[in-house]
Amino acid sequence: MAETASPNLSKSRFVAGMQCVKLMWLRVHEKDAPELKLDPRLQDIITQGDEVGALAREQFPGGVMVDLPHDDPRREARTRELLASGAPAVFEATFVADRTFAAIDVLLREASGFTLIEVKSATSAHDKYLPDVAIQTHVARRSGIPIRRVEIMHLNGDYVHPGPNLFVRTDVTAKVEALLPDIPAAIAAQLDVLAHEEPEVTIGEHCRVPHECPFQSRCWPDDPLGVLTIHGMLYAKRFDLLQHGIRRIADLPANFKLNEVQRRQRKAVERGGLVIEPGLRAAMAPYAGRLGFLDFETVGRAIPRWNGTQPWQQIGVQFSYHERQADGSYTHAEYLAPSDCDPREEIATRLVEVTRNADRVVMYTPFERTQIRMMKQFVPRLVPELDALEAKLLDLKQVVHHHVYHPAFAGSFSIKDVLPALIPEMSYKDSVTILDGQEASAKLARLLFYAGELTEAEREQIKAELLAYCKYDTWAMVKLTERLSSLAGLTASAR
Ligand code: SF4
Repeated sequence: MAETASPNLSKSRFVAGMQCVKLMWLRVHEKDAPELKLDPRLQDIITQGDEVGALAREQFPGGVMVDLPHDDPRREARTRELLASGAPAVFEATFVADRTFAAIDVLLREASGFTLIEVKSATSAHDKYLPDVAIQTHVARRSGIPIRRVEIMHLNGDYVHPGPNLFVRTDVTAKVEALLPDIPAAIAAQLDVLAHEEPEVTIGEHCRVPHECPFQSRCWPDDPLGVLTIHGMLYAKRFDLLQHGIRRIADLPANFKLNEVQRRQRKAVERGGLVIEPGLRAAMAPYAGRLGFLDFETVGRAIPRWNGTQPWQQIGVQFSYHERQADGSYTHAEYLAPSDCDPREEIATRLVEVTRNADRVVMYTPFERTQIRMMKQFVPRLVPELDALEAKLLDLKQVVHHHVYHPAFAGSFSIKDVLPALIPEMSYKDSVTILDGQEASAKLARLLFYAGELTEAEREQIKAELLAYCKYDTWAMVKLTERLSSLAGLTASAR
């Protein structure tokens, strides 16, 4: 890309700028911001995108890659050489026009002109991808390439491994053509923003749509009692409140319409402490006897690995299970899939074994139910046992959601927020290194599918982190159940 006094655009910068110019500005001028740090989850997304891209290229025999580093100034010349040589498709075809750099996943030669193809790991050609293909089309045409058709090539949501038709190519030409007249002005506006100081942008829906902005913690008010935390309210409505000067829940007009959970949230905020509904006692009554506590961790791959699975299908490969014994103590069992094997039969067998004696089994969210139902499809011989397990499930999150609120929940019923609010001496961030299920999933994928790239020490480290994280999840449920039973007056200790 030619150097100029102020930064140029790329397609990723342009796409960011279409969402929010401040986001674009920060991406360019604060490249090393902690918010942009490559974490295991992002790294996994990139790895999967690369794998999807490589498989997509196999669909174009004779295609040739512009095999130069991303910032190599010879890329465009190399692209033109390949086109002149008659290559049927050029991968990562690169052009620069209007100070904008664009690398096209697949530039496919047709009888007349070219088809521009953008490869996505998603299972649909969502409209959020249109600015991305529109800027590429603009740059290619301005560089003299006759683009006749524009496609998004994405994963087929109905694909079942190892069947045919992993990809679908969706024609988006008409939608892109409709956007093109506005592209030159958008480029000029974005270049102008980049040439000046950090722009001021009011927060709003663009902070979440089409992508969650990584700078929310920088731009949004850090206020657990603020209107942005109102549980279950449309974000458009929350931003509307802010714009009308209503910053805190306590400032809401007395007659402001709220649902049951929101009213409880407001009451807790006004009171400055815990609110417990009288129904908690009845809701906690089933949480008695020999209680099990179950949590799964899963992997979902863009390109499915195991027979009968689909793109992005989340498949349980790890569980932790605590079980309360007659003397009040707890036993613990766990499973973590070994590398490079299909663990579905083994995990289901082990799960049935360890949960057999429980009266009820506690989960937090219905995710475990979904996983158990999926196991029935994968391991039909265990359907009776898995049916029995499913019948024992209790969703503790529903109990909290409908009966308890503490201001420190900050509008969230995630166990990561509920736990420290109700049991201050417990918290994920002080106890485990993995912070959420997405990070766990990315680390599981490293362990299961890329073990050969890790040293023995790295494998052991990841295993230890995953086992500790999942175990903490079920232990958190144990302690939360004890706490809720106590709050309900079902056990001796007082609130
Ligand atoms: S949080 Fe919102 S305002 Fe701030 S940079 Fe992101 S999108 Fe822009």
